[in-house]
Amino acid sequence: MAKPLLFLDIDGVLNPVLPSAEFTAYDILDHTVLLSAAHGAWLRELSAVYELTWASTWEHEANRHIAPRLGLPVLPVVEFGRYRPRPGDPRLPRADLFTGRKWAPILRHAAGRPFAWIDDVIPRRLARQARFRPDRVLLRINPGHGLNRGHVDRLLNRGPLPTRSVRLARRESLTVHQF
Ligand SMILES: [Mg+2]
Repeated sequence: MAKPLLFLDIDGVLNPVLPSAEFTAYDILDHTVLLSAAHGAWLRELSAVYELTWASTWEHEANRHIAPRLGLPVLPVVEFGRYRPRPGDPRLPRADLFTGRKWAPILRHAAGRPFAWIDDVIPRRLARQARFRPDRVLLRINPGHGLNRGHVDRLLNRGPLPTRSVRLARRESLTVHQF
């Protein structure tokens, strides 16, 4: 069975706002980017369980500039810039249109597979809805400090369940939304 997907944001997750001793500053494409070797090790650990996928506005630049510095291979990329809304996309309240702009492309990319999404910008409403979806884990990350070991343990110990479990949950009449 295919692994669940792990959608990875970069800024505010792997590149935190606040510098600390574990991070090295790099000048990349006119930005100062803070990266940590520990993040690379954690992501390689997670790759045993998940199919890592970039879900960042860095898009393909993540494979050129971030992945090599974290010791990661070239990863699949969710393309946000080229995404055009399609019939059947989830409808978001106006207040969430900006913060939820990654949601439809992520769902299209997942195409029904279980997934986790780690990002510092996830509408609270989406995070709440995901609690009713055993096949989805949405983790809102504090951008000040970025990804920590607690998040990794959560993803390893209580990750998204296979879709079969969702079918069972449906039978037990748990509320499951299409999107
Ligand atoms: Mg971010």
